[in-house]
Amino acid sequence: CKKTGKASFRFYTTELEKQAEEEILIELRLKKALAQGGFRLHYQPVIDIKSGKLIGAEALVRLEDGQGATLGPDRFVPVAEATGLIADLGQWVVEEACRQHRIWLRQGMALTIAINVSPLQFRHPTFAKKLGEIISETGMSPGSIEIEVTESAVMDDVNEAVDILNRIKSLGVRIALDDFGTGYSSLSSLTSLPLDKLKVDQSFIRHIERDHASRAVTEAILSLGRSLRLDVHGEGIESEYELQYLSEHGCNQAQGYLFSRPLPAHEFALWCRQREAA
Ligand code: C2E
Ligand code: CA
Ligand code: CA
Ligand code: CA
Repeated sequence: CKKTGKASFRFYTTELEKQAEEEILIELRLKKALAQGGFRLHYQPVIDIKSGKLIGAEALVRLEDGQGATLGPDRFVPVAEATGLIADLGQWVVEEACRQHRIWLRQGMALTIAINVSPLQFRHPTFAKKLGEIISETGMSPGSIEIEVTESAVMDDVNEAVDILNRIKSLGVRIALDDFGTGYSSLSSLTSLPLDKLKVDQSFIRHIERDHASRAVTEAILSLGRSLRLDVHGEGIESEYELQYLSEHGCNQAQGYLFSRPLPAHEFALWCRQREAA
């Protein structure tokens, strides 16, 4: 190979270099999408288990390339965080989710809209202030917004997180702790957070049927959430078995492919209408 000179360069490209190259490409796509509007939100239904009613939607961001290909957030959110683009992306997500919420409200769909906030975004000094501005500009009811922060984001620096969450909470917005069970919460700090909901991570729910340990952890989380008087929400529910199990163990909200995948806004509205008609 060596004899072929420049042409053989790629043979020596390491995995790391490849990854760095890909990140640069994603960074370029992110900048382009921010400038030209290449992001879309998909919405996944949240169901109240007891009544079976649709009560909310989680907004999940996608990056589109304009040629029909879509990139998922696991690929580009880390790049957005590393490059500082997350602040603008996060701002767009909040504005777009609130805009969509208002449209649905006018159509008679009163939903709680859940918005994911990454660790850096959530610790950004103006996050709470900007959220407050969007709420007053749009006149939407703050109680119909739910901010999802991950357990690991919060536990990084609990004291700071308590401060920020209290500021967010004082706007009247709801707060959910996402991916619960995967981080390292000290249970005492959990009680100092102004939470409304625990979301049980799908990694436990996925193995409920086969794995005793996953059942034990899930049951512990559900009972902890209930005794703290929080909503407990199972995510990644794919089977009737999982739904039944969670329901029997005190889980009150459900989300997952069993109900629907995340959908573009117009498909989400269709899904809702079909469900109402059924
Ligand atoms: P998450 O907040 O834990 O979201 C749940 C993920 O699980 C979503 O993946 C969803 O599509 C997927 N999911 C839902 N139900 C099922 C199911 O029944 N089975 C399986 N296997 N998967 C299911 P997605 O959309 O790829 O999002 C991945 C992660 O990206 C999210 O995890 C969240 O942490 C992050 N993310 C998404 N949207 C945003 C955003 O607007 N801002 C920020 N900062 N992060 C976001
Ligand atoms: Ca989430
Ligand atoms: Ca989650
Ligand atoms: Ca997750």
